[in-house]
Amino acid sequence: MTRTKRPGGSKKRKSEAIDERAAKRPNNTLEPIQDAAIAPTPPPEPIASAPAPVQSPAQPKLSDADTAHIKAYLDRTERPFAVLAIPASKKRKRSSTSHQLIQDDLYDSRLTLQYEIKPFDKWSSLRKYKKFSVGSESIGCGECVLVKHTDETTGPIDYDAQWKARVLEIRALDQEHVYLRVAWLNRPEDLEIGRKRYHGKLELIPTNQLDIIDAMAVNGRIDVMHWDELLDDDPKAMPEEDQYFWRYTYDFVHTKSYSKLREICVCKTPQNPDELIVSCENKDCGQWMHTKCIAEAAVKPPTTNGTAKTPQK
Ligand SMILES: [Zn+2]
Ligand SMILES: [Zn+2]
Repeated sequence: MTRTKRPGGSKKRKSEAIDERAAKRPNNTLEPIQDAAIAPTPPPEPIASAPAPVQSPAQPKLSDADTAHIKAYLDRTERPFAVLAIPASKKRKRSSTSHQLIQDDLYDSRLTLQYEIKPFDKWSSLRKYKKFSVGSESIGCGECVLVKHTDETTGPIDYDAQWKARVLEIRALDQEHVYLRVAWLNRPEDLEIGRKRYHGKLELIPTNQLDIIDAMAVNGRIDVMHWDELLDDDPKAMPEEDQYFWRYTYDFVHTKSYSKLREICVCKTPQNPDELIVSCENKDCGQWMHTKCIAEAAVKPPTTNGTAKTPQK
């Protein structure tokens, strides 16, 4: 009995849908965190008619002078906020000038980190939101986005080359000053490891490298699914060929290490989800094999003692 795993490809490519959405000029609107359960994100509209955000007791309203001061700072500073990760070995005592924060829920608990934001007083004075909008698309905390890294606004956008990030926090002064704290999702070729034969075409590697970016750089939302390689017999657990996915993580802050991938086949390398694998025909074995490795083994001439050589990658 031979089982096979082959990624399907019948669905409409996601990039087409993204293309239509991203063709519009990004136009940020905000949904106050307090209103999230009541109303959906309003459509983009001129700032003058934007609904006033509901005041939170934890965030007293800024005075006009403070608002003008922060606005001037944001307008004259290209990258107004920086995230500084605090390595585990260099924990410092809390002081009045240092605000150590913790980010967990980064797909993998080993990515949890402590960090600081500078300048913290300005960041914390910005109102916190649950969602923001790009064109007609509403994007919430926890969702993943495409981030453009050039000012190029003409010509087709290369979606695979866009940066990808997960939105962790949304803060804004007004609709023209919207900032996102994000964790980067790297492509294999963006990391030191480089792209290997086993990496899927749309494979992303979550990291704990945090950043604060301008929401105007966002080109739309993407879905990134988790592929649990051990769920072998559930075809829905497997990413489609046109689906962004992650299966392992990179600890950028503490150990610079990757979490483990399952190794299969006689060559003991991971599976590429874009390529077919088959299980060994011996039902007591059932090991997943790369079809390439089986083909290579079949064409190798037998050695003098009659046994086939172990295929090498
Ligand atoms: Zn193999
Ligand atoms: Zn076998």
